[in-house]
Amino acid sequence: MEGIALRVRNLHKSFGGVHAIRDLSFDVAPGQVVGLIGPNGSGKSTTVNSLAGLFLATSGEIILDGVPIQTLPEHSRVALGLARTFQTASVFPEFTVRQQVRLASIVTLKSNPLASIFKLSVGHGDDAETEARIDEILRLTDLYQIADKLVSTISSGEQRFLMIATALAANPKVVLLDEPAAGLISHERKTLSEMIKKIRRRGVAVLVIEHHMALIMDVCDRIVVLNFGSKIAEGTPDEIRNNPAVIDAYLGE
Ligand code: ADP
Ligand code: MG
Repeated sequence: MEGIALRVRNLHKSFGGVHAIRDLSFDVAPGQVVGLIGPNGSGKSTTVNSLAGLFLATSGEIILDGVPIQTLPEHSRVALGLARTFQTASVFPEFTVRQQVRLASIVTLKSNPLASIFKLSVGHGDDAETEARIDEILRLTDLYQIADKLVSTISSGEQRFLMIATALAANPKVVLLDEPAAGLISHERKTLSEMIKKIRRRGVAVLVIEHHMALIMDVCDRIVVLNFGSKIAEGTPDEIRNNPAVIDAYLGE
């Protein structure tokens, strides 16, 4: 498992008679950004939801940093280092930006089995360190200047960045970004690109689902293409851009 943060092997998910994903395998290494693309209904959301543990896959393996997680509930996967964002923003409107990130980091620390084994406290001793980490996340996600604003008063783009900050507060090894550019305007998409590259530089493995092709081509080291639940191609942005099967199924739409 050395060098692989997320290993997906022969993953299969059916809903009744619908085979939403079939025999899907791919890897994401630390510090690597992998894109998951495909037409509507090709199984992207089902993949992310199976990985995150929103429901269990029908068969196959999901290995997080060497540990099989496919049978674990969602919160255990988070505690082991898998964090996700959602397609729609979900935030606490009466909190400040900083409070929401702090809450996410404390909740995660408490749900981490190692934290209880070593009786780590989130009280006085760790305050400075926790605040420094929160500052770092706020800077990375471009939220530092608005950290003391109420979440209810920030823009929808800023709320999306806050979801990424909340995911990073869990100190993950792997981050799943579900359509992070949805609803963002052009300059915010640029900020998002830079953000994803900064997350990669921290050694986090990133899996990103996105319709916005310019963003995918800009940030991804590799791209996995789904069609009708099956992987039809995998490669670098250049390879994918020029792959006839991909152009047929998706890019030529
Ligand atoms: P994408 O995110 O790529 O648009 P989805 O993963 O949402 O695709 O869907 C893949 C397939 O699985 C589609 O045929 C969809 O109708 C089906 N599907 C997804 N979720 C469910 C569900 N909860 N129950 C039944 N079928 C589902
Ligand atoms: Mg979807």
